Amino acid sequence: MKKEPTLLPIRILGDDILRQKAAEVAEIDEEIKDFAQDLTHTMYIRDGVGLAAPQVGRSIRMFVIDPGRRDDDAKNPIVMINPVIEEPAGESSSDEGCISVPEVFAEVKRHDKIKISYTDLDGKRHTGEVSGFEATVIQHEYDHLDGVLFIDKISALAKLKNSVKIRQILSTAVDGVNILKEK
Ligand SMILES: [Zn+2]
Repeated sequence: MKKEPTLLPIRILGDDILRQKAAEVAEIDEEIKDFAQDLTHTMYIRDGVGLAAPQVGRSIRMFVIDPGRRDDDAKNPIVMINPVIEEPAGESSSDEGCISVPEVFAEVKRHDKIKISYTDLDGKRHTGEVSGFEATVIQHEYDHLDGVLFIDKISALAKLKNSVKIRQILSTAVDGVNILKEK
């Protein structure tokens, strides 16, 4: 483990990498472990409950989540590598936002319950059933690995309401790269 985690630049809507299907992680080596640390650090600095690798410019199948952060300050990050979602059931909708689509919030319909399998940083495979907010966060992050953004799943009305912001975000893209500017 290295000493100081790095704050990674965030790719925002209009960046091509957010629309690509990410590749499986072949090997969990020291570099991937360092990257996971940076990804986690960046999620907390950006006040997120989840962050996927493509959002920081790497098209690989991994993300970090910490759904408990919504309710308290304790940090319990879970890094999920090569995740697979199975047996989706039920329906729930809630307001979502995304670090890669700043200041846009809208309701998204998702499954209420899923079975999730993933590899952790020690190379161990886990399988578990999750529901509610945690299931929502996992489905949102998982979508990033397939080039899908939450705004693809919002109503036409919500798209219209957010169209100015969406156009603003898209307008800063240059040659398929769009990096969040520091405020
Ligand atoms: Zn997102």
